[in-house]
Amino acid sequence: MDLYQQLLQLDQQYIWHPYSALGSDLPVFPVVSAHGVRLKLADDRELIDGMSSWWCAIHGYNHPQMNKAIENQLQNMSHVMFGGLTHPPAVELAKTLVDITPSTLNSVFFSDSGSVAVEVAMKMAIQYWQDKQADSSSQKQQFLTVRIGYHGDTFGAMSVSDPETGMHSLFNQSLAQQLFIDSPTSAFNESCNETDLNNLRSALEANHTQLAAFIIEPVVQGAGGMRFYSADYLNKARELCDEFNVLLIFDEIATGFGRTGKLFTCEFTQIQPDIMCVGKALTGGYLTLAATLTNDRIAHTISNGYPGLFMHGPTFMANPLACSVANESIKILLNSDWQSKIKQIEGWLNHSLEKCSKLTNVKDVRVLGAIAVVECKTAVDMKTIPTAFVNKGVWIRPFGKLIYLMPPYIIKQEEIEILCNAIFEVLED
Ligand SMILES: *Cc1c(COP(=O)(O)O)cnc(C)c1O
Repeated sequence: MDLYQQLLQLDQQYIWHPYSALGSDLPVFPVVSAHGVRLKLADDRELIDGMSSWWCAIHGYNHPQMNKAIENQLQNMSHVMFGGLTHPPAVELAKTLVDITPSTLNSVFFSDSGSVAVEVAMKMAIQYWQDKQADSSSQKQQFLTVRIGYHGDTFGAMSVSDPETGMHSLFNQSLAQQLFIDSPTSAFNESCNETDLNNLRSALEANHTQLAAFIIEPVVQGAGGMRFYSADYLNKARELCDEFNVLLIFDEIATGFGRTGKLFTCEFTQIQPDIMCVGKALTGGYLTLAATLTNDRIAHTISNGYPGLFMHGPTFMANPLACSVANESIKILLNSDWQSKIKQIEGWLNHSLEKCSKLTNVKDVRVLGAIAVVECKTAVDMKTIPTAFVNKGVWIRPFGKLIYLMPPYIIKQEEIEILCNAIFEVLED
């Protein structure tokens, strides 16, 4: 049996994949290496990557400078516990994150995945109100969020993700009950409409005594539905949260590090969140690392309250290899003319996807920065579509009705065209 078949057989026997069944007959493709924007399969076929491995690999794969950064750090230490110890890569990264994120965010909690960064944000919000209202036995432990959101797969993160796509009914006895309002309908580049404003106001008005925070993915709702909405909604959300004493948490795990054309999407707004989560592209797709940033108000209240500690501490907190490659990835990004590159990619995507909007099964085509979405009228067939894309030499992984692209920033125009043509041709069939 050749390597390709051997890998597939053992994989099917032993391994769970994201949101999948064991022994599933849905296709899985064995990758043996990756370079630039290309993935190489075990049978030597090469695929142009349209996914950046779920928003992460912004500089492409096997990047010489990032490889070097990890190799150098490996010579010093690959890991050391973070309880009572610190190290240069973590200090450098924390300083950089404080410098490049909104100016009021001044402290950094490192964790090992986006979901955990969200858990940390939620725990911080709860601890903040415990300390703030220590004498009134704080009830502020619930979260307000919008439908169609996605914040991760652990219990806290899941509780604020869309109830339907997250199948909350399966976990109803174990999952905290949070408060959901409709996702904003105000379009990107429009001001916030009355309906959205009223929904938010009435939810806050009626529930603020229980609410610790409003958590939301700013401007771009990612895995929950790939939709873009008004930045002005967030300006209004900030005002209302202040009026009703509710914290504001931005989950920028998908959108951070230039993807939308801004370094962070909150730069589309005039406001700053109290807490912000980053992850995914933080290490340029090399290792798993995430961070939760807070302003001084949160950090000082928790640190000076009861028990005077923040109650969380992952084993692999601030892993030095991950921090050093994150430092390198951010350096590469900031030393490049990334704004022009994202603008350019946005133009190419708009141009090459335009023809898709004429297809009968297509409901909407939308592009923001280096994110493109082709929304179909019906769900795509996951038994045949991924294979059809692979046969066209591209890696595109749809979900539900959504076929989307978020390519590495190093992608060239002709590679964008190949990705977009593949979408057109597969949908045309
Ligand atoms: C991916 C994602 C998460 C979860 O991150 P993991 O690293 O998969 O745990 C949380 N929030 C948003 C917006 C995401 O896109």
